[in-house]
Amino acid sequence: MRIAVPLERQAGEARVALVPESVKKLVASGVEVAVEAGAGAKAGFLDQDYEAAGAKLTDHASLLQGADVLTCVNRPEPDDFKKIKTGTVIIGFLKPLDEPAALEPVVSKGLTAFAMELIPRTTRAQSMDALSSMATVAGYKAVIIAADHLPRMFPLLMTAAGTVPPAKVLVLGAGVAGLQAIATARRLGAVVEAYDVRAAAGQDVKSLGAKFLEVDLGGIETQDTGGYAKELSEEALQRGRDMVAKRAAQSDIVITTAQIPGRRAPLMLPEAAVAAMRPGSIIVDLAASTGGNCAVTRPGETIDYKGVTVMGPLNLPATVAANASQLYSRNLTSFLALINDKGNLKIDLADDILKGACVAYQGGNVHPKVAAALGQPASQAKES
Ligand code: NAD
Repeated sequence: MRIAVPLERQAGEARVALVPESVKKLVASGVEVAVEAGAGAKAGFLDQDYEAAGAKLTDHASLLQGADVLTCVNRPEPDDFKKIKTGTVIIGFLKPLDEPAALEPVVSKGLTAFAMELIPRTTRAQSMDALSSMATVAGYKAVIIAADHLPRMFPLLMTAAGTVPPAKVLVLGAGVAGLQAIATARRLGAVVEAYDVRAAAGQDVKSLGAKFLEVDLGGIETQDTGGYAKELSEEALQRGRDMVAKRAAQSDIVITTAQIPGRRAPLMLPEAAVAAMRPGSIIVDLAASTGGNCAVTRPGETIDYKGVTVMGPLNLPATVAANASQLYSRNLTSFLALINDKGNLKIDLADDILKGACVAYQGGNVHPKVAAALGQPASQAKES
């Protein structure tokens, strides 16, 4: 089996799917690894490092044509799909829930595709959980960019010229990204408080030395069996928003991370709540790519809204490309072990992880959301 690693071409992308450390392990396991020249350069991994790890360097077209398994960070471009041979397995962040129609070539070309976003959150799959890896990096970097724009310091300082009070940080959504944001802000010396609809997150927040804000949601179920938040009623959302608006007005930085898989991100900071924040305050909206938690966020931009800086970064992990690639590469390598039978490709869809992550198998067994977007009859779609 030949595993291929392309140079990612999406604007602003600097990550690479596999780093030399993983290539070495894969080659030792009996597979061939082909890497596009320059694939790791922006993340600090040089062509010679890949060659030393046992990879063969190649150009873009030969890489796509010769791949049995194409590992990627982002979904291949439409033009790339034309060059990939029938039967190739594609693994990466393929956005099957957000942009299902874009996976049409997977079906029409008889490809097999596994989406890293769909890997089930089970104990066995923990080492493959790329969403968590990237959320960790994003949560960290969100605090760093906020600190860079804040006209204040984070720690409490007692100096001969007087006391400098600590920065106040509010984190909305205490999942993987939110918890890393809390930990990073605490390390820099800020006073941190956080809110999440899942009461279970309270323990994690407190263990990081932050205050957990509670809202009476009338005892409704807020968490699904996968540990993700459920979509809330408008009334429950409003109760959260009322509390958030009060706390945001007292904060120097608000970092929002609230998401619901496959749905628009919940609105947590309406325009009035932003307008009530102090000039000089910062909002970093990590949900910008799924509609934003803040009403004035512009995805991919940094704007000034009545003196408040509102940032909507779309790909923070790419700005920490070395570590983000290293973590992603390890996640991918764990996943690849499931389809690597002594160097040969073997896919057993009875495996719960492969079944869960599968978007299509040889053009069939199509994920229900993708099938629906392509107008395929339900009988051709896989059972969910
Ligand atoms: P996510 O990115 O989907 O959402 C981020 C956070 O936003 C979540 O904590 C969610 O509860 C919160 N949220 C959603 N709507 C909200 C609202 N209206 N108001 C306030 N908060 C809201 O989630 P995630 O960070 O990927 O993970 C969520 C959960 O999954 C966590 O409990 C995490 O520990 C768990 N998890 C489990 C595994 C595993 O078992 N292998 C791996 C990773 C994460």
